[in-house]
Amino acid sequence: APAETPQVVVDAHGLPYLDKGLPVKKRVADLLSRMSLAEKAGQMTQAERAALGTAGDVAAYGLGSVLSGGGSTPTPNTAEAWAKTIDGFQLRTRATRFQIPLIYGVDAVHGHNNLVGATIMPHNIGIGAARDPGIAYDTGAVTAAEVRATGVPWDFAPCLCVTRDERWGRSYESFGEDPALVESMETMIQGFQGAADGRDLDRGDKVLATAKHFVADGGTAYGSSTTGSYTVDQGVTTVTRQQLEAVHLAPYRDAVDRGVGTVMPSYSSLDIVGDDKGPVKMHADTEMLTGVLKNRLGFDGFVISDWAAIDQLPGDYASDVRTSVNAGLDMIMVPYEYKSFHQILVDEVEAGRIGEKRIDDAVSRILAQKFRLGLFEKPYADTRGASGIGSAKHRAVAREAAAASQVLLKNEGGVLPLRKNQKVYVAGSNADDLGNQSGGWTVTWQGSSGDITEGTTVLEGMRKAAPGAGITYSEDASAPTDGYDVGVVVIGETPYAEGVGDVGNGNDLEPTAADRAAVDKVCGAMKCAVLVVSGRPQLIGDRLGAIDALVASWLPGTEGDGVADVLYGRRAFTGQLPVTWPRSEAQLPINVGDASYDPQFPYGWGLTTRTAVPSGGTGTLKALALAAAAAEKAGAEKAGRAAVTRARLLVQEKAGTTVTAEFAGPFADADHLLLTGRYAAAVAKLTQAYRAA
Ligand code: BGC
Repeated sequence: APAETPQVVVDAHGLPYLDKGLPVKKRVADLLSRMSLAEKAGQMTQAERAALGTAGDVAAYGLGSVLSGGGSTPTPNTAEAWAKTIDGFQLRTRATRFQIPLIYGVDAVHGHNNLVGATIMPHNIGIGAARDPGIAYDTGAVTAAEVRATGVPWDFAPCLCVTRDERWGRSYESFGEDPALVESMETMIQGFQGAADGRDLDRGDKVLATAKHFVADGGTAYGSSTTGSYTVDQGVTTVTRQQLEAVHLAPYRDAVDRGVGTVMPSYSSLDIVGDDKGPVKMHADTEMLTGVLKNRLGFDGFVISDWAAIDQLPGDYASDVRTSVNAGLDMIMVPYEYKSFHQILVDEVEAGRIGEKRIDDAVSRILAQKFRLGLFEKPYADTRGASGIGSAKHRAVAREAAAASQVLLKNEGGVLPLRKNQKVYVAGSNADDLGNQSGGWTVTWQGSSGDITEGTTVLEGMRKAAPGAGITYSEDASAPTDGYDVGVVVIGETPYAEGVGDVGNGNDLEPTAADRAAVDKVCGAMKCAVLVVSGRPQLIGDRLGAIDALVASWLPGTEGDGVADVLYGRRAFTGQLPVTWPRSEAQLPINVGDASYDPQFPYGWGLTTRTAVPSGGTGTLKALALAAAAAEKAGAEKAGRAAVTRARLLVQEKAGTTVTAEFAGPFADADHLLLTGRYAAAVAKLTQAYRAA
């Protein structure tokens, strides 16, 4: 706890809501019954850290929450400073009547990405490519541990967007184009929060998750906005009711079942074909927020607005507040004008334009999560986990995720895996750039190129994997190209977040001229592998003919070692495309199931390689079956998952060809069994597939 002694206005000790032994519902009811309207309005207000010139406003307005928007970091940007800053705010809540702790929130969308030195995971698109619910879970768990250790109990993640048009600048925040894939990656929610009933939330290594952006953010039509390129990602999604249910709403059903604590509506609007309502802004959509999410799906957490999103509603601010709260928003990410928001909310209730019942419902939902998180008992940062931040153990999880996310699209003549004794020529803009391989939402909101945090670039990973080999690096391929065994050209995007994205490349999916030139030069001179480090497919077009091996690397994060693991065959390539890879821009949007589907590589495509060291046969599978059965009996989730994951790898290694067509069925079955804790049955299923391979 901070050294400063809090000035306690009222000693709340002894009041029932402070009794940890009472059920959350009772504690909420007791506390709510004591609160004034102003205090309730305070709970519904979330301010930005930087807006709080004086931390005293936390108490003066009884703020329910403070956030750090992307890149809004304390100075210095260290784990200690984060904890100290948040504890400082928390300290102010001690001076309020009921000492209601605030809940601090950040966007940790691929690791604790605002913090320098944290472990940065692949962005969701890569997690979707890895297709392993265990990996989604593990990356979530590591993220949660690093986030909570800095005093942050709430994460605005994961994005459950189902991306349907990869020109959308947030495509990399999506697990993929198929709702079933998105659903199976929602183990990440468990990684963040622990058990679905919320009983793990008060642990020092768990955080409250946010399913976002409700609903159909991934379906917005490219360019539909007329308010300038910046808001293109906040456009209109036009769908039939049936598409809405099957594609965009499906992941939320699952998230609610998994006990997700909060949901964030989308900036976008929803236009349901056949309704005559026209596009409705999600932040004003009573039918969806209250009717569907809360009433029909039974979501009992709280709904947090997106950043200043209610400001976009038609009418004056009072009408924005009224409309959104009445539609079902429980907390508003204001985030700057929190004083006027607070006043207007109080006024609207006093004038009878927002019902007290609605306010009580909103505040009850917020308080319930604060009780579950254990914030009343332990408001200050529990920094015991801080030594884990960026630790070897955490980086090993990110490394495995990065390796598993690599999708081998083409491998003519077995160029990959590389052999350690080969002379390799490395080129391209993303071979040696930690910022580029991490993408947006890394240290700063937009991310940036260069050495922005701690980690290993792809090139550095390769050098570690093959220390004795002759690896020559020439970013622009200007070094002479004669005499090499193989070339590796790492091309792709520079970081961006939200908006239309692809800022470096003029808003299309075309590789840059420099990258194209590097590919042409290297692939013209030797056998070559091209790695595409990007948030979405890049147009390779006819160039594919000249490329021997092509890899979709996505945005692998800080562990370039993971990419090197598959390049050098320490681990097999097992990733599969989470989105369709188009031939041309004209094909967009393109999704599996489209009537005339003729992509360069179909959804789910992914070749595998054999590892340098054969990892076992049916004997190993038998051992895994025993391990899985034992884990199942003991309820040992981690061991169970490990056995299934290992079995899956064995099948993929043996198959040695395209895993998709033949194995999609058994793999999906095994994934399902894994999710429901039936590890032994999952291994049995995979053993069958192994025999058939
Ligand atoms: C994004 C959200 C994010 C919020 C807070 C918004 O601009 O759309 O995804 O959670 O900012 O940083």
